[in-house]
Amino acid sequence: MRNNSLIDLFKQYNAMLEGHFLLSSGLHSDKYLQCALVLQYPDLAEKIAMLLFEEIKKKSDIWQRINLVVSPALGGIIIGQEMARVIKTIAGCNVRAIFTERDNLGQMTLRRGFEITNKDNVIIVEDVVTTGKSTNEVIDVVEKCNGKVLSIASIINRSIEEKMFKFPYFYISKVDINNFVPENCPLCKKNIPLVRPGSRK
Ligand SMILES: [Zn+2]
Repeated sequence: MRNNSLIDLFKQYNAMLEGHFLLSSGLHSDKYLQCALVLQYPDLAEKIAMLLFEEIKKKSDIWQRINLVVSPALGGIIIGQEMARVIKTIAGCNVRAIFTERDNLGQMTLRRGFEITNKDNVIIVEDVVTTGKSTNEVIDVVEKCNGKVLSIASIINRSIEEKMFKFPYFYISKVDINNFVPENCPLCKKNIPLVRPGSRK
């Protein structure tokens, strides 16, 4: 799928919102990608996971060694699960999909009895990567458990940086969206109400 057709798909499902948004990174933005609106349809989630897998397969053979997908909750869970299914189907090996979440102190952590060991070759899968902050926190969680991170993948890369990770990074589409630090946000200056997209009804 070409860059434009994925974005067209997002527009078709109203998953590309326009307004004044507070991102989880703390930055403000004039657009927001609500991947859940596309991923709510299992056939689309499956198709998108396959496209992301093909991006990886085109450029690397690391997928043959992956036995664990780790995603940050909530955004990464559905695409992570679908990605594990694709890898399992194509590579024929057993792949688990687990997720990290934040504890009461905001610390990224592994809960629910999920385990990572030194036998795990990990791909970190997300819906959207913006600053890479949460991705790097997931990397820390995996490495503290002695898991081996092989690569990172997201449906959409909306960052400005090209090389922000110490591991190979794969994505389907790159989307340039304006991010603003709060002190210097033109939308704040226009008094446009700030919306936290996850809480939007
Ligand atoms: Zn603002």
